[in-house]
Amino acid sequence: MEDSLKAKLANFFQKPKIVILIAYLVIGTYLCLLMAINFQSQTALQKSTLKRIHLDLEKRAFSLGYFFSERKHGLESIATSKDVLSYFINKSLGMSEAYGLKVSLFVIKQILLKTLQEKSIQGDPIYMRLLLVDTSGRPLIDTASESQEAFFFSSVKTAPSPDEPPIVFIDQENNKIKLVLKTPCILQGEVMGSLISILNLDTVRKHFVDFSPNPSLDRFDLVSNDGRIMRSDDAAQCPDFRELTSMTIHQLPEDQFSLIKFPSERAHAKQMMVTRVTIHNVPLYLLSWVEKKTITGTLTPWQSLLGTAFLALMILLGIVKLVKFNTENLVLQTRYDESKRQQHRLASKNQQLKHEISQRQKIETELEEQRSLQMRSDRLRSLGEMAAGIAHELNQPLVGVRGKAELTLLSLAQEGPLVPQKIENNVQTIIEQVDRMVHIIDHVRLFARNAGKVEISRVDLNDIVCTALTLVMVQFKSYDLHLEKILAPRKLFVLVNPFSVEEVIFNLLTNARDAVESKKKEAGQNYRPDISIRTGSDELENQKNIWIEIKDNGSGIPESIIPSIFDPFFTTKDPDKGTGLGLSICKSIVEEFGGTIDLESREGEGTAFIIHFPECRTPTETDETIPFP
Ligand code: ADP
Repeated sequence: MEDSLKAKLANFFQKPKIVILIAYLVIGTYLCLLMAINFQSQTALQKSTLKRIHLDLEKRAFSLGYFFSERKHGLESIATSKDVLSYFINKSLGMSEAYGLKVSLFVIKQILLKTLQEKSIQGDPIYMRLLLVDTSGRPLIDTASESQEAFFFSSVKTAPSPDEPPIVFIDQENNKIKLVLKTPCILQGEVMGSLISILNLDTVRKHFVDFSPNPSLDRFDLVSNDGRIMRSDDAAQCPDFRELTSMTIHQLPEDQFSLIKFPSERAHAKQMMVTRVTIHNVPLYLLSWVEKKTITGTLTPWQSLLGTAFLALMILLGIVKLVKFNTENLVLQTRYDESKRQQHRLASKNQQLKHEISQRQKIETELEEQRSLQMRSDRLRSLGEMAAGIAHELNQPLVGVRGKAELTLLSLAQEGPLVPQKIENNVQTIIEQVDRMVHIIDHVRLFARNAGKVEISRVDLNDIVCTALTLVMVQFKSYDLHLEKILAPRKLFVLVNPFSVEEVIFNLLTNARDAVESKKKEAGQNYRPDISIRTGSDELENQKNIWIEIKDNGSGIPESIIPSIFDPFFTTKDPDKGTGLGLSICKSIVEEFGGTIDLESREGEGTAFIIHFPECRTPTETDETIPFP
């Protein structure tokens, strides 16, 4: 399973490796392109936004410049008007103020007041105050009431040259910002005085500076030479602007935007773009305030670049994770498939095993049946072997019975009236002989019934040997062999089924007989067949053992077949002579009663089988359950 999994994985990683690499390259290239395009479009957007703002600023500067030049022309026409000039002519002619000049000044004042009232833009007054001053700066006419603050003219005292353009300056007295326009009154090339107008800052701001349709986004301001924001209302209230005045705003390069970072606390929240456009002919600056995000958007190109790069990284990581996850899934799937296949294999093997087991059980049952049949035939063979002995055994008492009966008849014929004592003796003998026959027949019946059964009894091994020998002795004699019996002088009690042990003795004696017969065929006349049966006891490891030895000087067993002779159906004999079951039955009977069976054999010299049983010293309840002999 491991091998197939490895092969699959190797296969997977070999082919898809190229696919994954290509996928990475494609995604990487796509993301790089995306970043580049994003960066480029952001930069282009910035440029166009800046351009738009700058154009807007220029438009305002142009209209403001136009406004100033209009004012300049307006004031110039008043300053060079007949009424103003006639005042200065009369004055130069020596006319006193009380006489002619007062009228002139009155007329000029009327003109100035009218101008003050008439000059407006959409209802908003352009001028706040108009003054006519002499060359020393002393006001000749002032449209303001006396309660209004005095105007500080130090800055206009210096008489301007006739070619000098109108100037704009700020009166910083009382910290008030004012937009002032000064026009010289020139008579025959000589400056006689100046016409000073104080412009309405609100009107200027409202109509020319700060008229953005969306003031929250863009805001415009007028800035003076010294960098002060011109706001009549809130210049003092807005700290940002106040801070900004300290900056040399006019040093900002024209046509260029700069980023102003306010030093105040709110600086981080409010960064603004600032640029300047110098108003034509007027020393004023126009500033535009634009929120940074309107130009760069919420992200700067670099931020968006970084953001996209981060996104790309995340996507790549995601893909890596996905591939890893898929690989793990594949491994699990393969393992699952493999275990399923194994399960199927196991199930079919199981089925096969079941089939084999049932077949084997069938064969075993058949074998068992065959074995029991063989055992029965083996036992019948033993009975057959016994038959001659039985016949002999029965023959003897029968001969005795017949003899006694004939003797009785003869006695009756010859001797007349019977001697009661003689008849009694004869009948007694007949009864004894008949008893003996009954006993033999009973034994045979019991053997047939009990041999092979598990019932056990405490019996003397010598008795079993004697009974067995009685039955085979006659038959063995017909084979012309010498059978020797050496029994232990004491009783050898064992706990066995005596008929089964008798069967063992029959089998071993039969094998011994076959072995000596076989050798006799080969050895010839000089050979004297000998079979001995001995019993005895010995002590081994504090356990008294009873033994029985059946020894012959027959053909012996070749060493090579010794390990097999106890196997069922192992035989070296012809089929009509041997079944191969004798020794296997002997072994199972002996072991059933806690005994052992061993052998010593030499090929060509003979064999000895030795059986050991544990001694049974004390009588048990099972005694006499099987009557023997
Ligand atoms: P069977 O006698 O029917 O062949 P056994 O199980 O009794 O079956 O014996 C198995 C084999 O062991 C015999 O065929 C024989 O070759 C060998 N054998 C048994 N007893 C002797 C013996 N006393 N001498 C020589 N060979 C023997």
